[in-house]
Amino acid sequence: MRRQTSMHFRRKRSSLVSSTVRWSKPALVTFLLLGMAAAAQGPTEIKPGFNLFTKQQDVQLGQEAAAKIRQKSVMVNDPTLNAYVNAIGRRLAASPEARDSGFSFTFAVVADPAINAYALPGGPMFINTGLLRAVDNEAQLAGVMGHEMSHVILRHGTNQASKAEILQLPLALAAQITDNGSLLGELAQLGIGLGADSVLLKFSRTDESQADLMGAHLMAEAGYNPTQLAKFFDKLNAQDNLGALVFLSDHPNPDNRSRAIRQEAARLPRQTYGYQTGQFQQMKRALATIKEPPPKLNTP
Ligand SMILES: [Zn+2]
Repeated sequence: MRRQTSMHFRRKRSSLVSSTVRWSKPALVTFLLLGMAAAAQGPTEIKPGFNLFTKQQDVQLGQEAAAKIRQKSVMVNDPTLNAYVNAIGRRLAASPEARDSGFSFTFAVVADPAINAYALPGGPMFINTGLLRAVDNEAQLAGVMGHEMSHVILRHGTNQASKAEILQLPLALAAQITDNGSLLGELAQLGIGLGADSVLLKFSRTDESQADLMGAHLMAEAGYNPTQLAKFFDKLNAQDNLGALVFLSDHPNPDNRSRAIRQEAARLPRQTYGYQTGQFQQMKRALATIKEPPPKLNTP
C-alpha cells in the first residue's frame, strides 16, 4: 500500500509539472481515497499462540468449567438482562474474527458486585451484575464483552495452560481421551483448574493487549465506537474500590492500555458507530431489582 501511494505521488508530481493549472476531479478523488487508505492502516493481525489442546478440547473444558461456575455462582434468570447481554453478544459473535474462530459463544449474567466478566475456553461467557452497573453506555459493555470473546478466539486460557504444563500436559490429554472422562478432572491433577490461581482465567499482559485490540475490532464491526473501551478502562483505573480491583487482577493492565486501544481504533476503516439495541435504560432498571451476594475477591 505504501509503495502504491509513493508511486502515485511521483506520477502526480510529473503531471503537476506538465499542467500547473488545477487537479481534475477524478484525480482529486483518487488522491483523497489514497490518503484515507494511508490513514487507516488496517487492523493489527493477531493469531492464537502455542497450544497443546485441540479446539474441541477447548470446547469440552469450557463446558465442564462452565457447569462448575453455574453451581458455585448466583445465576441471574431475569429475562430482560439475559436478552440484553445475548443481543450484544450475538452481534459481536457475528463479526469476522469471532465467526472464523468456529467457537459458539454463550452469555449468562451472574449476581456479583465485582466489576468483571470472564469467558472460558471455547466460548461460555459470564457477565457480572457489577459490570452492568459500572458501564456508562452499551458500547462500554460491548467492549468488555469483545475483550472477553477475544481471549476465547485467541485461546489464551489453554495457551497459558499449555505453557505452564508443557511436560505433563500431553499425557494428561491422552489419558482423558483414553478414558473419555472429565478434562477438568484430568487437569485438576496438574493443578490446572478454576479458582484463585487458575491459569485458565489469569492472563498475561501480552494476552491483555491482544484481547484489547481484537476486542476493539469486534466492537467496531458490531457498530460500537472502540474508544468507549478505552474510556471504560480509564474509568476503572480511576477507581480504587474492590469491584474494580477484581477486574484488574484477572486482566492485568498492560502499559498505555487506553492509548493502545485508541491507536488501534484509528487504524480501523472509517465508519460511523451508531449501533444501539435501545434497551440500555431497560437493562439498568431491571438491574436495580437484582440482589447481589457480598463481594468476593476472586473469580469462582
Ligand atoms: Zn482480559
